[in-house]
Amino acid sequence: MLTVTNLTKQYDRLLANDDVSFEVRPGEIAVLMGPNGAGKSTTIKCIAGLLRFHGTIQICGIPNKKEQARRVFGYVPELPALFPLLTVWEHMEFISRAYQLQNWRERAEELLVRMELDDKKGKLGQELSKGMQQKVSLCCALLPQPKVIMLDEPLVGLDPHAIKELKAILMELRAEGCSILVSTHMIDSVDEFWDKALIMKSGKVMAIRTRAEIEESGENLEQLFFSITEKAAGGATE
Ligand code: ADP
Ligand code: MG
Repeated sequence: MLTVTNLTKQYDRLLANDDVSFEVRPGEIAVLMGPNGAGKSTTIKCIAGLLRFHGTIQICGIPNKKEQARRVFGYVPELPALFPLLTVWEHMEFISRAYQLQNWRERAEELLVRMELDDKKGKLGQELSKGMQQKVSLCCALLPQPKVIMLDEPLVGLDPHAIKELKAILMELRAEGCSILVSTHMIDSVDEFWDKALIMKSGKVMAIRTRAEIEESGENLEQLFFSITEKAAGGATE
């Protein structure tokens, strides 16, 4: 369970997150949608404990900056940050030590196979293409079997096989009861798998809809998205 309550984040004078509140339940995939600059990455970085903020963020009921919270969430940043001089397999070893994982090797092997990285185990971080780095970053986040996972624009830059596998993995995590938050500026890319859509603009969450709500009301998510995000600048907010 992920709970964000009254999250406000300011960079100097710029209000990047303005009183953001939402929750992602166990077994739910929430998509954080919004145009560039809406504040999606800032929200995710605050949840991941990388930024100072006002408000409350709880992961499985624990404040996000506490160690017990950090143990149970995974974060896949938009730009992968690997260790340049560690190999792919050493990244897996590093994570297994940091999280004190037992019997992790089989899972690590399986993740690398699924991401078509099993023949790259001996390659250094700095020798990998951007897409490969992104896949290693994904494997690192998945290895400890997080209860809550945040992925920032995860589909950008991945090849079709990795996109297919990632979608399958997200659905498996959902079935296992994980709370999943995926940011995207491309609505189409998440169409098949979202359970809850959060539409952000100018730092605010302007609308939250579950798939059931959309299906019941006959509302169209894409139309809703554009009606919110393309409103004239300076217009009233709801
Ligand atoms: P999104 O991920 O939705 O594209 P971001 O959260 O990256 O949006 O950015 C939200 C706003 O905060 C933008 O106006 C962006 O320019 C600004 N911003 C992001 N990071 C910083 C930073 N480190 N310092 C100052 N402003 C920032
Ligand atoms: Mg972003």
